[in-house]
Amino acid sequence: MGKPKGEPRASWVEKETFEEKKKRARTILRRLEKLYPRTRTALDYTNPFELLVATVLSAQSTDKMVNIITVTLFQKYRSPEDFLKAKPGELEQDIKASGFFNQKAKSIRGLSQKLISDFGGEVPSTMEELLTLPGVARKTANVVLGNAFGKNEGIAVDTHVHRLSWRFGFSDHDDTNKVEQDLMKLFPRDKWFNVSHLLIDHGRNVCFARNPNCAECVVNELCPAARVPAVRKKA
Ligand code: SF4
Repeated sequence: MGKPKGEPRASWVEKETFEEKKKRARTILRRLEKLYPRTRTALDYTNPFELLVATVLSAQSTDKMVNIITVTLFQKYRSPEDFLKAKPGELEQDIKASGFFNQKAKSIRGLSQKLISDFGGEVPSTMEELLTLPGVARKTANVVLGNAFGKNEGIAVDTHVHRLSWRFGFSDHDDTNKVEQDLMKLFPRDKWFNVSHLLIDHGRNVCFARNPNCAECVVNELCPAARVPAVRKKA
């Protein structure tokens, strides 16, 4: 869930110029950096290919569940070729616990095929190339670029990033690509990778989808949603 049901639109934010919003965004960023100094992806991986597969599996699932699945998955399948060798239904069974396993198995087979045919079996390191892989959209590409290649080409927008962007009044779009564009205008490029992880950490630990803990939030006075009772009720 991105924007909780029943919450007012981000246009609730009192009159604020773009420069003021940018300043507020950067103050929030500094506080979250202090609160979560070791922020990183919660997915376990040892190389870009494993991260790519883990990120595909994480859609509509939890990182914890994906990490349980990949402990054995990455011992059995070590390369794109290994995934293509799986018997019909075998891969689906191996990733079943992550949900939407038919679609995910299709994506993993498709991207494995593409990696072999177009990229010599290696995961490419540009947004443009990553987006040519089946099942890979900007969110997945951003996760791979940031974590595996240390590149800041965008901001991965997952359900937490979407929800917090809404509550902070940084974006009121439903389309995550548009939310990403709004965030990219507010934060310095060298922080894009961290912005995503920090918002995810804060969404998991304090700014819950239901009943956010505004009373103990370090950015309370910088957050317009803290002053709107609707966000503290069940979504
Ligand atoms: S003040 Fe409340 S709504 Fe705003 S970020 Fe903190 S927990 Fe979330």
